[in-house]
Amino acid sequence: MQHREHTVDVAVVGGGQAGLAAGYFLRRTGAEFVILDDRTEPGGAWNEYWDSLRLFSPAGHSMLPGWWMPEEEGQAYPSARHVTWYLGEYERRYGLPVHRPVHVEGVERVRGALRVNAREGSWRARYVISATGTWRAPRVPDLPGRDLYRGRQLHTVDYRAPEEFAGQRVVVVGGGNSAAQILAELSRVARTTWATLRPPRFLPDEVDGRALFAIATRHQNAARDGGPLPPGVGDLGDIVVVPPVREARERGALKAEPMFDRLTPTGVVWSDGSSLDCDAIVWCTGFAPALDHLAPLGLTDGRGRIPVEGTRAAAEPRLFLLGYGDWTGPASATLIGAGRTAKTTVARISDSLAAGG
Ligand code: FAD
Repeated sequence: MQHREHTVDVAVVGGGQAGLAAGYFLRRTGAEFVILDDRTEPGGAWNEYWDSLRLFSPAGHSMLPGWWMPEEEGQAYPSARHVTWYLGEYERRYGLPVHRPVHVEGVERVRGALRVNAREGSWRARYVISATGTWRAPRVPDLPGRDLYRGRQLHTVDYRAPEEFAGQRVVVVGGGNSAAQILAELSRVARTTWATLRPPRFLPDEVDGRALFAIATRHQNAARDGGPLPPGVGDLGDIVVVPPVREARERGALKAEPMFDRLTPTGVVWSDGSSLDCDAIVWCTGFAPALDHLAPLGLTDGRGRIPVEGTRAAAEPRLFLLGYGDWTGPASATLIGAGRTAKTTVARISDSLAAGG
């Protein structure tokens, strides 16, 4: 691709599931658009999840708009590799104009448009959909002593498989799904300690991704209709009890300790003075939205987010944010939920384009 300025109606930044869902609906509007993704292969963050990761839901409940995810042979809950394959097939099937690898360095305002800048070129777009996910922005708490600790520190994004920790003493930090799933397998080969800010909250065993989506939808509909609000997903718990988590819990491997206060060169120390030496600390402490490319627009708030109305940036009507979490649409950061917010987002853009905006 030569470096020159292209002109499009819509530029989508990010070609993971959220960007593809937007592409599916944009295709149907007849708008000129492009999807810019900085990976060499399709699949977004699914390429980098740990080896054993499986979906929370069966294939039939993990689909992008238009095409059901085919089942993975012999697997009720598909693997991350299968999702990567599905997303690659999906973009081919719908002929989505994904340009790779193109890393968007910045988005800036120009007269009557936004300009999306990358080393490979720039795109002058009337609307930009940012769909860059969270995987590129891992979060680690800034505890005293982090730089003193001489063992290994890694985040969820660095973890692939348990074997390299065999026989080691490992501390896993965080009360969410990543921590519980990584612990479930690490505890088979390593001596593990689980540290969480508050006692872990397991969802009822029968709740999988399907049920979560139904709960999120009921909650959203009630909020829209102004009726009494049924419990949302967050009210029920944090951790989906997938089969390896259930097995580990039954084995007694999922007993949590309170969060420690600081690190020393050899381990961690709690507020009561007790301490533990360890070979590694796995920070399963979450993610922020990956929004560095939007910094030139000056929209980001103190939490690293951009205030939105629906998915539209409150202070920049040409910018939409898709797939980052419930704040950009309930369940929008899931495979099955991405389509719903992509549809309403593209409808708003299409209306604005038709009105000459
Ligand atoms: P991503 O998949 O991260 O895609 C964003 C794309 O944008 C990437 O290709 C990235 O390289 C690219 N990009 C980023 N910055 C730039 C830039 N500046 N320029 C160009 N390209 C850029 N959901 C489910 O539905 N079911 C599950 O079972 C499930 N399990 C999950 C397990 C884990 C461990 C995690 C972390 C999430 C899970 N999710 C699950 C949630 C969600 O489906 C995934 O996080 C999904 O990958 C999010 O898709 P996305 O398109 O928003 O972001």
